[in-house]
Amino acid sequence: MDRAALGAHEQHAVDLERDEVLEQLAPRSRGIDARRLFAGLDLGDEQLAAVLDDVVCPELEVLRQPMEDGVVTLSRAAVSLTYPARFMLAAAMNPCPCGYFGDPLHSCRCGPLSIERYRSRISGPLLDRIDIHLEVPAVAYGDLVGTQSDETSAAIRIRVQRARAVQRARFQGQRGVHANAHMTARDLRRHCRLSGAVEAVLKQAVTRLGLSARAYHRVLKIARTIADLAGSAELTTAHVSEAIQYRSLDRKREFVGEGR
Ligand SMILES: [Zn+2]
Repeated sequence: MDRAALGAHEQHAVDLERDEVLEQLAPRSRGIDARRLFAGLDLGDEQLAAVLDDVVCPELEVLRQPMEDGVVTLSRAAVSLTYPARFMLAAAMNPCPCGYFGDPLHSCRCGPLSIERYRSRISGPLLDRIDIHLEVPAVAYGDLVGTQSDETSAAIRIRVQRARAVQRARFQGQRGVHANAHMTARDLRRHCRLSGAVEAVLKQAVTRLGLSARAYHRVLKIARTIADLAGSAELTTAHVSEAIQYRSLDRKREFVGEGR
């Protein structure tokens, strides 16, 4: 791609796509002109799109540190301050720009590329730090008006309280660790002992989904919590398989990738 041609308003379809990305970035980058920002870099179209994808949502990306370490560091000219920042993040997004990808009743008109671009606004490193990805399909009319009751919130609360008590006892005397989510790699080795069968399931998932080390550790923590909720001291293949199911966006990436 001849970069001079871009400046001369001779863009064709490929250039327009890149411009669309730039347009999306512009209002989010706090007044920085993205074209100028990257003008000095000798990037091809794909590389530029990758760079842009990484900075498209800077406000979200700054969550990485508190999500990982439970602290936030504010740096100013003369001073750097670190504050505690442990929180629970709940976020929702559509599966694609039109919102109907995977919907049995509506057809999605988005191409694989636009779906991938849409999803990559949430960067891989940020996604890695979100423990549970869950697909929430539209509620069918029958379920909406149905009177059939599932487990009550009160019953679920008791189960959760029991699981929290198990975790408090597990980490008693350990500073800064009160729940499975806070486990270090060392804690994981100690509290998530894996049988050969469980290890085989995990190995397959890591290979198939291309899970990062961080995502792998999060799967183990979730599996530990699933086991605690079930009142089980051992981690079974069922617990680990359920935890892997909660990496649905990693699985989606694989699916979108295949559809290309
Ligand atoms: Zn769509």
